Amino acid sequence: MAYRIGFGVDYHQLAEGRDFMIGGVHVPHHSGAVGHSDADVLLHALCDALLGAACLGDIGLHFPNTDPRYKDISSLELLRQVGAALAAAGFVPEHLDATLIAEAPKIRPHVDAMRANIAAALGLPTASVNVKATTSERLGF
Ligand code: MG
Repeated sequence: MAYRIGFGVDYHQLAEGRDFMIGGVHVPHHSGAVGHSDADVLLHALCDALLGAACLGDIGLHFPNTDPRYKDISSLELLRQVGAALAAAGFVPEHLDATLIAEAPKIRPHVDAMRANIAAALGLPTASVNVKATTSERLGF
């Protein structure tokens, strides 16, 4: 089978009082991402990367934000469904590498839990999932 690579990116606004869910981890913070689902930007970007690699569209096609079934849903469930869609199409993810860009909260203490969540959702070994974190300041934004 041909080897494919996908790319995903996501941004969400933050709002006071929202849970900050990232990589399936609830990270304590005064604000969280706004969205129809739990607004987990990392998992949304991974969904798009996987769907893109398989030429299966994007997250908005599979989980429209007008569908009440996805209101406040855990994005880990969306990632599980994306994994199932890839399997149905004959694809098996081999490894994932993700970079989070955030000023706050600190991401690095939660990276191992994120890796475990992502691996479990896709049936991959944790060693096949990598999550890195940086700040926009470091990138010169
Ligand atoms: Mg999103």
